[in-house]
Amino acid sequence: MNIPLVDLKAQYIKIEHEIKEAVEKVIRETAFINGPYAKRLEQEFAAYTGAEFAVGVNSGTDALMLSLKALELQSGDEVIVPAMTFIATGEAVTLAGGKVVFSDVDPVTRCIDPRAAAAAVTPRTKGIIAVHLYGHPADMAALQAIAKEHGLWIIEDAAQAHGAICGDRRVGSIGVTGCFSFYPGKNLGAYGDAGMIVTSEPVLEQKMRMMANHGRLKKYGHVFEGMNSRMDGIQAAILLAKLKYLGDWTKARRDIADGYRQSLDGLDLCLPKDNPGHVYHLFVIETPRRDELRKNLNEAGISASIHYPQALHLLEAYRHLGYREGQFPVSEHLAKTVLSLPIYPEIKASQREFVASQVRSFFEGV
Ligand SMILES: *Cc1c(COP(=O)(O)O)cnc(C)c1O
Repeated sequence: MNIPLVDLKAQYIKIEHEIKEAVEKVIRETAFINGPYAKRLEQEFAAYTGAEFAVGVNSGTDALMLSLKALELQSGDEVIVPAMTFIATGEAVTLAGGKVVFSDVDPVTRCIDPRAAAAAVTPRTKGIIAVHLYGHPADMAALQAIAKEHGLWIIEDAAQAHGAICGDRRVGSIGVTGCFSFYPGKNLGAYGDAGMIVTSEPVLEQKMRMMANHGRLKKYGHVFEGMNSRMDGIQAAILLAKLKYLGDWTKARRDIADGYRQSLDGLDLCLPKDNPGHVYHLFVIETPRRDELRKNLNEAGISASIHYPQALHLLEAYRHLGYREGQFPVSEHLAKTVLSLPIYPEIKASQREFVASQVRSFFEGV
């Protein structure tokens, strides 16, 4: 058996006809950049998240960076970012001219720990980026209380959490902006790079839209210098075709997570905490025997992998910030113990059971 972490081919086979037709239409209509498909995707995705507006961009990283630029970060302005996330969350702050300040995460949700975030606030803090890591919604209510107390904004990094629910709202619609990635392996993935910002603030929406398109709304009417980070028409048409299935795919992910949970119950490992709003971008277990287990699974043809092997504050890229080992114990512990098991809507029950039985026999020493 060969079980990948995510099988994009299995998904494509099921929707091949629709995708081909969608791509063909864009080419026939030469609707390549910011055309009618990009516009429709923005409308449908905004409605899906419950936000007023959506702005299609080049990537999730750009979605974060453009949000931060629109909020007019000044040099020296601090933004609090969880130490356990993908580097793009931090990169966007630096790219937008701000200073990254790391915070530890909560051991149960693995998302930014509101108390740690509150402790990281200084007079220079402008905002917090909440990452809905692995598809689990961050504790937005607690973060909003902190933000309110200190006059901060919250940006949601929902790159791993399309459709996740926090309280009675979809993630992305809660913060000042919500940033999504459509990187192919994400819960809603394009066939290349793409991203989306959602917001309900018209002034921000306008600014981000202009910034992503050379500082203009009309051809040659450049109001300021922006950049090029637009939605590709082919990607938009593919995403429109796939958006219809996102609800079913999310349900399938939750069912797979339930299946893993039942099969792995009672073993000496830590399972991800369930939450009704969790969309299981990844199914992440924790064990101190992580490296040994990963090797065992890989040898059995199972692509288990690590998200992420290093907490951001200890990466070479952030050495200049002067953080030390031991400063964010939860993030550091996760970096040493997390293992992502294969999860994708098309995984067969037999494949899931094979993964689970392999994990079980590893721990039971069979
Ligand atoms: C994927 C990801 C990003 C970046 O998205 P890209 O589209 O690859 O630029 C940002 N944050 C998190 C948490 C991600 O997983």
